[in-house]
Amino acid sequence: MDFEALFETQLDALRQEGNYRRFANLERQCGRFPRARNHDDDAPAEVTVWCSNDYLGMGQHPVVTERMKEVIDSCGAGAGGTRNISGTNAHHVALERELADLHGKEGALLFTSGYVSNWAALSTLGGRLSDAVILSDELNHASMIEGIRHSRAKKVIWKHNDPEDLDAKLSALPANAPKIVAFESVYSMDGDICPMEEIVEVAEKHGAMTYLDEVHAVGLYGPRGGGVSEERGLAHRITLIEGTLGKAYGVVGGYITGSAALCDFVRSFASGFIFTTALPPAVAAAAQASIAYLKESDAERQAQRQNVARLRAGLDRAGIPHLPNPSHIIPVMIKDPVKCRMIADILMRDYGIYVQPINYPTVPKGTERLRFTPSPWHTDADIDHLINALTVLWKQCAIAHEVA
Ligand SMILES: *Cc1c(COP(=O)(O)O)cnc(C)c1O
Repeated sequence: MDFEALFETQLDALRQEGNYRRFANLERQCGRFPRARNHDDDAPAEVTVWCSNDYLGMGQHPVVTERMKEVIDSCGAGAGGTRNISGTNAHHVALERELADLHGKEGALLFTSGYVSNWAALSTLGGRLSDAVILSDELNHASMIEGIRHSRAKKVIWKHNDPEDLDAKLSALPANAPKIVAFESVYSMDGDICPMEEIVEVAEKHGAMTYLDEVHAVGLYGPRGGGVSEERGLAHRITLIEGTLGKAYGVVGGYITGSAALCDFVRSFASGFIFTTALPPAVAAAAQASIAYLKESDAERQAQRQNVARLRAGLDRAGIPHLPNPSHIIPVMIKDPVKCRMIADILMRDYGIYVQPINYPTVPKGTERLRFTPSPWHTDADIDHLINALTVLWKQCAIAHEVA
């Protein structure tokens, strides 16, 4: 068998479509967010990152990095085992308390990533509750889709952000089947936010549990960073809130929060929780420091919002279309994978602007885009530089000046 040829054929097909992925080889500069040293030859040695999910730069905040160093010195590098066998550390337990408090829940359960938390929690809920049906928003993240698939539970897909369609689909199900409504607050590619209250009301009407992914909202929305569910006063009506420690909190890890029994259930049955080494204690402590800090400080959130508004206004003045949405995510639609890649390459090479082209399968074909995430730390000069660069490219590439 010529395995090399089998690999290459499929990789060539990706290249042909313009969907072959290249990673920028960068070195983040602590204390200089959003700058990074660039290790690729065909671009400036220093670039400005415009697509980080470390939305507030907390990954470099001294409160977080000092805490991580402190706990490396006190506990060492690794956890030393799974949570069950010698791996549970006081820092994990403290972090779980912090998370339960963040969302006003009885319990929380920590995972090695947000992906794993969705995969493990949904596969356990769907797999262990007999006759369960999972109702999944059609734009849910891959980690939820994989968890649902792995659960082997019946899956019903409802129209994106459409409570009426959800209502109709729930109505069609047997009254006594356990129903789980899985959705997100902020959808990361379009930056739209769900009609949470309407969805919760529909779920309540049908006695369904709600499973909410707040990955792109925790740390950013709500007076204490508890996400959109906190901002809208709905957290107590959501059965399970899932989040990440790797985006706005700037570290790594994932979690679920909910009732004590729900967390105990997942803790006791989820393979993706049980059979893997716990996060390093220093990581847990750093994440806890980040959460605690953002519960108190609103300055980062406000500065981020200002920069988001500034970039949007600048794009409008330059006539560069971007998807309107109420979030911190600014998608500039290119709608062609090759053009999208080309514009990103030129931004990097000629302007030292790093924005990753977002192509299929992350987004549907024909909706390729550049996705900008302004942070509190981008300066006015950074924003002007980006807008000037895009204006030049926009003219050169003769891209239609409207969103179709
Ligand atoms: C990134 C992401 C996750 C996974 O979180 P990680 O901590 O990065 O594994 C889950 N859900 C959504 C919507 C995401 O965008």
